[in-house]
This record gives sequence, C-alpha cells and structure tokens, in this order.
Amino acid sequence: MSLPFRSELLLIGGEWRTAAGGTLPVEDPSSGAIIGAIARSSATDVAAAVAAARAAFEGEFGRLAGFERGRLLAALGRLVLAHAEQLTALEVQDVGKPVTQARADVTALARYLEFYGGAADKLHGTTIPYLNDYTIYALREPHGVTAHIIPWNYPMQIVGRSVGAALAAGNAVVIKPAEEASLSTLAFARLALEAGFPPGAINVVPGLGEEAGAALAAHPGVNHVSFTGSVEVGIAVQAAAARHVAPVTLELGGKSPQLVFDDADLDAALPLLVRAGLQNAGQTCSASSRLLLQRGIYTQVVEALALRYRALRAGPAARDLDLGPVISAGQRRRILTLIEAGIAAGVPVLARGEVVADAPAGGHYLAPLLFGPVPPGSPLAQEEVFGPVQVVLPFDSEEEAVALANGTRFGLVAGVWTRDAGRQHRLARQLRAGQVFLNDYGAAGGVELPFGGVGWSGHGREKGMEALHGFTTLKTVAARHR
Ligand code: NAD
Repeated sequence: MSLPFRSELLLIGGEWRTAAGGTLPVEDPSSGAIIGAIARSSATDVAAAVAAARAAFEGEFGRLAGFERGRLLAALGRLVLAHAEQLTALEVQDVGKPVTQARADVTALARYLEFYGGAADKLHGTTIPYLNDYTIYALREPHGVTAHIIPWNYPMQIVGRSVGAALAAGNAVVIKPAEEASLSTLAFARLALEAGFPPGAINVVPGLGEEAGAALAAHPGVNHVSFTGSVEVGIAVQAAAARHVAPVTLELGGKSPQLVFDDADLDAALPLLVRAGLQNAGQTCSASSRLLLQRGIYTQVVEALALRYRALRAGPAARDLDLGPVISAGQRRRILTLIEAGIAAGVPVLARGEVVADAPAGGHYLAPLLFGPVPPGSPLAQEEVFGPVQVVLPFDSEEEAVALANGTRFGLVAGVWTRDAGRQHRLARQLRAGQVFLNDYGAAGGVELPFGGVGWSGHGREKGMEALHGFTTLKTVAARHR
C-alpha cells in the first residue's frame, strides 16, 4: 500500500468508489489547515455497503473456517506493523495525536488483530447435560452483518477491538468512521484487501453521523451495532437499531475516578494520576478525570500534582509534547464553556500547564487545567469534559470515597491506590464500573481485558474473549436419541 492514497473514496464490496453525497474536508487540528477530503456517504451508499457485506457473509467470507479468518487477521496485523510509520503519521495529522501516542495506537491495533486472529478458531460452543436420551449442544454463530460506528478519539484502537472481534467471529462488517478522523480506518481497509480479505468482508462508509451513521444504525439488514461515542448519539443509535430488533453494544463516556488513600504509594500513583487524565489531551472515554484524595495526603498530593501540571506543554502533534491540540474548534469551544462556567462559579484553579508560544494560531490548543476542590454536585464534577481538565475532591472516610466515586451517572473505570489489601478488594466490589484497577490505572489499555461500562457509560463488553461472545449468537441444538 502506498500512502497518501485517494482518501475521498469509500469501500464497498472490495471496490473503491466515489460517494453519492460528494466529499467532506479533512482538517489538521494542529494547524487548522485542510489537508484532504473524505467521502460523504449517503443512505444509498450505506445500503450498498450493507448489501455487499451480506453477500460476503453468505458467500466467500462466510465459508471460511475459523483458522482461515485467523490467518487473515494475523496477516493484517503484520501489515499494520509493517506500515506503522505511515499509519502513525496519518493519525498525527488527522487526529492531532502526539507521535508517541499515535504510535501506541498503531501497536494496539496490531495487538487486537493478533489477539483476535489467534482466537478465531477457539470459539468453542458447549455441550449441556439434559435428559439421558438427549444430546444437547450450543453453537456460537456470527450475527451476520455487523455495523461499527467509530469516534474520532482512538480510531485505530476502536476499529481494532470491535472490527477485529467481529471478523474473528465470522461477521462481515460495515464501518462508519468519524467525520473528523477517517484516514487511518481507510488505510486499515486498504491493508485488509492486501492481506486477502474477500470483497465485502470489510466495507467503509465515511461521512456525517446524522447521514451515514444514522442510515447504518437504522438499516434493517444490519444484525448488530457496535457504537462508541457520546451518550446522546448512543441513545439515538440504540433506538434506531431497536426498530429492527438488532442488538447493540454501547461504549459511551465516563467520569472515571482514582481514589487515593492516606496509605497509598504516592511515588507510584502520581505519574498515573496525571497521565491517565490527560492522555490524548483528555479526549479518552476512560480518562481519569476525577481525583479523590483522602484528607491526610490532600495538600501533599495537590502540591505534587500542581508541580507536574506547571511542567506540561501542549503544542503541534508532530513535536510530540505532552499534549496535542483537541480535535476541532467546536470541541475546543465546548470544553472552554465548561471551564469558564466552573471559574465563574468560583471553583479554584489549582494549576495550569501551557500552550507553547509558537503553536500555530489555527490549531485547537488548550492548556491543561487542574481544578479543586470541586463541589461534588457541580458540572465540573459530574459532566464529561472530554478535554485536558481534571478535578480534585477531598474525602475523609472510605464510605465517603465510595459514595463520591459512585456519585455520577457514569461507571466506566475506577482506580484505587491503597496498601490495605482488605480495602482494595472491598472497594473493587463496591465501585460501580466496568473495570477497577488496584494500585494502577489503565486508561484504554489491555487488549485482553474485557472493557465497557455500567449506567450511562453503556452496556456490552468489548476487548478480550468476552467481546467474541458479543459478536456471536448462541444456538441450542437438541437431539433426541430415537
Ligand atoms: P459522537 O457520538 O458525536 O460520534 C461518534 C460516532 O457516531 C461518529 O462516527 C459520528 O459520526 C457518529 N454519529 C453521530 N451522530 C450520529 C447519529 N445520529 N446516528 C449514528 N451515528 C452518529 O462522539 P464523538 O464526539 O466522536 O466522541 C466523543 C464521545 O465518545 C465521548 O463522549 C466519549 O466518552 C465517547 N467515547 C467512548 C469510548 C468508550 O469506549 N466508552 C471510546 C471513545 C469515545
């Protein structure tokens, strides 16, 4: 594959075509410059992609054995690694990710493909004891055509985890990447054709959410929808899929806490308290945006956090600083509105990083900000900012810490820092979250680890072996011995 490629084309049935709806511009968030175009897929394009996926599922791709799908995924993983530098460069330009973070996403994409490639021939069903004159077994079967609606913040990781698992399970896929960040998904699809995936196994329809995304979620030929994005759109997608009774996996937002107790290993905790909140300029669903600090270490930790914040620098993604820009002018405005409302309400700013002086004026930069103490019910403590902002809340007792941690509508990830083993496991049970880290925090990490939310963070699990179950349906076969 040679890059750059003709990014304005969409992929249907193994063919690169122009979209019925024309094109959309591609912006580099580091400079605001327009660097290319992507297809603006229409409902007609989406219908053609779903039909192509159905034909692949009922044809060549659907006839492959598990180990053959596994080989294709493994070959794709190798191609991703062979093109790591080109993919990294695309993501640096398209998403504004600092180089090191973009490179980590490429590695994660390859790991998902390796993991699900290895799992494709290990999707065992079960046998079930019943009456003695029966043999009962349950088969794990693919849904058929699965839709994947992808956000802009981690395109490669989210394509890897959802599309990788869906293909391993034998589904043919239609991917709708985010309008702000489609390039790496288009490059991924080119590599998939090179790896030998049959036509129609992977289709890509870039475009606007309310056009291509809405058409895909509502299409009656789609048998499962995997959606990652905002709560508001997730609800609309689930409602659209409900009209044709398709199951949905929703990976939505978060307001994930780290709880730091007086007995914590602060040397280990401090770097992760900051990094887990500001990775990808805070545009991470599992970002740890709330830091809950026990009273005895509150002042000491706040001072140490402030020191770290003052050393943080945001600037052009290619310079590989601590933070790149946020994705768009619109996102920057949305984040600033929340920040300004917090300041106007009198929430103290504890520390701030800086935007480098020579950052291009057209880029969407924000200096990272640490607020605290924030009132637990305030918007800054409750709403997902999805930007480089963390808030600090003090607590006295373990009970209060749990109540604060569980005191939002979200429940994605939580981290607990304490040397008390009893407390670690007590809290692991009490915290409302899909993942709990003890003396660690893994924002977006862990290909092998089931991931997903409770409450407004969504439902269903991706990553790990668990995701394969989500991309299959169980058929029970009952044979009577006559
Ligand atoms: P978004 O919901 O605006 O968009 C996500 C995707 O949905 C995009 O591809 C978009 O084009 C599409 N879309 C928009 N409107 C649609 C519609 N009406 N019908 C169908 N599809 C539509 O979210 P975003 O701004 O791209 O991403 C930020 C949000 O995603 C944050 O809230 C963040 O927490 C969440 N997120 C969650 C996870 C997770 O795994 N839980 C991961 C990344 C991002």
